[in-house]
Amino acid sequence: MDPWLRPGPTAESVAAARRVSTLAAARADAQDRDDGFPAEDVADLAQAGLLAAPVPAEEGGAGLGEEPGAADLVAVLRLVGSGSLALGRLYEGHVNALQLVARYAAPAERHALFAEARAGHLFGVWNTEPPSDGLLLGADGRLSGVKTFASGAGHVTRALVTARRPGEARPLMLVVALEPGTRADLSAWRAQGMRASATGTVDLTGLAPVALLGGPDDYHRQPHFSGGAWRFAAVQLGGIEAVFEAWRGHLARTGRGADPHQLARLGEGAIALEGARLFVGRAAAVMAEGASAKGALPVERVVAFVDLARIAVERAGLEVLGLAQRSVGLQGFLRGHPLERLSRDLATYLRQPAPDRALTAAAATILAAEEPVAALWEAR
Ligand SMILES: Cc1cc2nc3c(=O)[nH]c(=O)nc-3n(C[C@H](O)[C@H](O)[C@H](O)COP(=O)(O)OP(=O)(O)OC[C@H]3O[C@@H](n4cnc5c(N)ncnc54)[C@H](O)[C@@H]3O)c2cc1C
Repeated sequence: MDPWLRPGPTAESVAAARRVSTLAAARADAQDRDDGFPAEDVADLAQAGLLAAPVPAEEGGAGLGEEPGAADLVAVLRLVGSGSLALGRLYEGHVNALQLVARYAAPAERHALFAEARAGHLFGVWNTEPPSDGLLLGADGRLSGVKTFASGAGHVTRALVTARRPGEARPLMLVVALEPGTRADLSAWRAQGMRASATGTVDLTGLAPVALLGGPDDYHRQPHFSGGAWRFAAVQLGGIEAVFEAWRGHLARTGRGADPHQLARLGEGAIALEGARLFVGRAAAVMAEGASAKGALPVERVVAFVDLARIAVERAGLEVLGLAQRSVGLQGFLRGHPLERLSRDLATYLRQPAPDRALTAAAATILAAEEPVAALWEAR
């Protein structure tokens, strides 16, 4: 084959994600327990090179996410999410952490952390914390406090966490090294869905971080903070696809598909699904452009578009869930039916922070702009 016709490293990541997704889908029901975790699937991600793929090419990775429009990363996140939303959530956290390392770590730490990703460490980003007992970095360089809703608790071995110095409002970004099976409390994770994501409370008291990334509040720097929402929307898109396929399969299997009401619902569902797909692809491209050195789109426009996209995907997910449940009926609520767990996982993973704010902030940006609406998202 001519070398220029050979698939590039990020295209190979897409093929690998397809394989991992198929295996993960076959295992996902067995992992659907309060203390479940897709350990074999994470091992598959490592084996297939997908834990190393988001590492920049000059650091020995595939540079996944750096390709034009982040198109291959969209496909990888969607594929992994369609196989298992819990695995998709974990992989999205890993990708997010490595992108933050690439953006903010000093050269020596960047090199060391990327080497650890290549060696198979699972990274995560743990920002959420309770109103009291959030994470503090003391003058002695040690942490005190907890993180909540931390996916991969007890399994992630390199966690990027936000923590404040006492009396300081702006958080720092730190990386902590963790031993598997330590510091995690999953007792409160009695969730309807996403059970296998091991989303628990982690007590980091006494630990000294292995790296400090960037400066105060860099974690919230835009467009990356809000704009990065396209990645969870891509995983959600995979979950919507999986629900759609379970629904379509049910209609085909039961011979109920030719009924005009069922056909109309499936058509409505396909519109919602394909709309979500278009939004995710465009959001990733807008973000890639806005985050580039050229920065052709103003930061607030990038954030507004991604905010619209994440709400559009949430809405598509809710619509497909409702249509699928109406079409399949009670069968889809019985354990063992393909739709049952997929619906619980998607309904749970659609819950993301501050959806009202995302919608109204995007609307306010649109209201304040002077250009015609059709030109709002075009590079200047
Ligand atoms: C499976 C799963 C895994 C997760 N893993 C991680 C992880 O690894 N790391 C991590 O940091 N976090 C994680 N999270 C937590 C996640 O980042 C969010 O904190 C969580 O999803 C927020 O959902 P929520 O519905 O509680 O959002 P909320 O923002 O509380 O929204 C709930 C409702 O309240 C509204 N609302 C929000 N703020 C206000 C306000 N001030 N006043 C009035 N109304 C308001 C919203 O618009 C919405 O209608 C995970 C979540 C899930 C579901």
